[in-house]
Amino acid sequence: MNPNHASGDHEHDRLPARLFFEAVEQSNVAISITDERANILYANPAFGRVTGYDPEEVIGGNESMLSDRNTPRIVYETLWARLLQGKAWRGVLVNRRQDGARYLAELTITPVKDDGGHTTHYVGMHRDVTEEHALAQQVRNQKALFETMVDTAPVIMALLDEDGTVVQRNQAYDALREALGGIEPAREFLTAARKSCGDHGQDGFRDCELRFDAGSGGTRWFSCSGVRFRERDTRADHFFEERRNAYLMLVASEITELKRRQEDVRVNALRALTAEEELVESVRETLAGAIYQLQGPINLIAAAANLLERRAAKDPGSASLLEALNQALGSGRQALETLYGSMPDELMEAEAPVNLNQVLRDVLGMLTGRLLATGVVVDWQPAPVLAPVLGREGRLRGMFKQLIENALDAVGTRGIAAPEIRITTTAGDGCVTVAVQDNGPGIPEALRLKVFEPFYTTKGSAGRRAGMGLPMVQEVMNQHSGTIEIDPQYGGGCRFCLHFPLPNHALPDHDARDTDTAA
Ligand code: FAD
Repeated sequence: MNPNHASGDHEHDRLPARLFFEAVEQSNVAISITDERANILYANPAFGRVTGYDPEEVIGGNESMLSDRNTPRIVYETLWARLLQGKAWRGVLVNRRQDGARYLAELTITPVKDDGGHTTHYVGMHRDVTEEHALAQQVRNQKALFETMVDTAPVIMALLDEDGTVVQRNQAYDALREALGGIEPAREFLTAARKSCGDHGQDGFRDCELRFDAGSGGTRWFSCSGVRFRERDTRADHFFEERRNAYLMLVASEITELKRRQEDVRVNALRALTAEEELVESVRETLAGAIYQLQGPINLIAAAANLLERRAAKDPGSASLLEALNQALGSGRQALETLYGSMPDELMEAEAPVNLNQVLRDVLGMLTGRLLATGVVVDWQPAPVLAPVLGREGRLRGMFKQLIENALDAVGTRGIAAPEIRITTTAGDGCVTVAVQDNGPGIPEALRLKVFEPFYTTKGSAGRRAGMGLPMVQEVMNQHSGTIEIDPQYGGGCRFCLHFPLPNHALPDHDARDTDTAA
């Protein structure tokens, strides 16, 4: 009697032995019983169906008749090593049917022991798992193929579970995370999507744009889409009661190059527009300056003619001089009329909310070539958030271009070792302040008002706008109800501070006074 059964009666002790035989005989699993050398003593009909052998004809034969050389020898050796330890073995072998066809056998061999614990027989049970294996391998192949495609795709991919945790990601995603110094890009993509597309709900979102300023690679732009999908839960608990887990697939592609090209096109268009505006403005300014300068002598001649007219009654001799003066006055006024008449119309531009950070960025973009050529370092420090001012964008662009070009001229002066221009924007006190600072020779205190007068220049007669730049800057600031001052506290060069009132705010009194003085 088996020692395991020694303790008493078991229900199965009362079952007829025939029942056990029939259970094995009718089983759908291929079952064989062998002696300790694997010689077959019994095989059930299912064994015949799986192997192709008639169960009767295999009796007396060895299980090795099923062996195929595609099974490595080490597998048999391991199998037998385990059996000889009295333990069961389970594994997969390549078997040959009677017709020579190969199949995969998922085999379990269990030793049958006598009362002394010695193996007397073996029971082998096996199933043909060729198809299952093929299907499983196909799934594995497809998974490997899919993973390779995802990994080598030039797009960033991440799969997020319901809690927003990244459960799968590709190499491009990892590379971006590394470039961002460990920031989880998925979180940034989702925040950007929420900002630009609202709550994306069940349907996901498409083509949300996002920029990253962090890292050494400068600004990088991405277009990101999110697709929601549900996958069936694979756990046993949900085999009958279906449960689906929700996921969000994030796909993002880098559009930095595209953005850069778009920006180049825009800056080039601005460059052309600004050049045209500058031409018109410079003609207007030159004529205005000429009128201003002509006005003085004409006023003098008029005053002299007036005086002489009063004297003419007493002194008839002065009549010819009076006539000459009146003639000079007439031609002077005629010349003034001609100058007024040839003044081109001011370019009309509607007032609109303008972001000064953007205007300055555009101007720096337009001046990139000159900045690179001169090797001047620009320290650009925009306020992270800047309220828009009400203004004329084109005029403001022209004005800042003038100021920065002046700064470039200043730092180009001989003897400036490390030429640098710093541009900052700040917000506060109901106004936006822009400071343009250079480390050039600066403007002496005595000239700080004079430089705003028409035709005053320290650069000699060079340049078509010589002496008209700062008056234009002043005029634009006046048009925008703003103020401009040369910072008296700054001694390392020259710093222009421009204050723009925000809509519904007036500038503090001292700033207004400074402007009046400067004007
Ligand atoms: P073999 O010379 O038979 O054996 C290969 C290695 O196994 C040798 O290194 C040898 O040392 C060792 N070995 C073989 N017989 C014994 C033994 N009696 N005692 C100790 N070591 C031994 N094989 C299949 O390929 N397909 C099957 O479906 C299959 N079912 C089996 C079912 C049962 C119940 C048992 C007990 C064995 C079964 N085997 C099966 C194993 C089979 O007996 C062979 O070992 C195997 O087929 C390799 O055969 P072979 O002629 O290539 O080499």
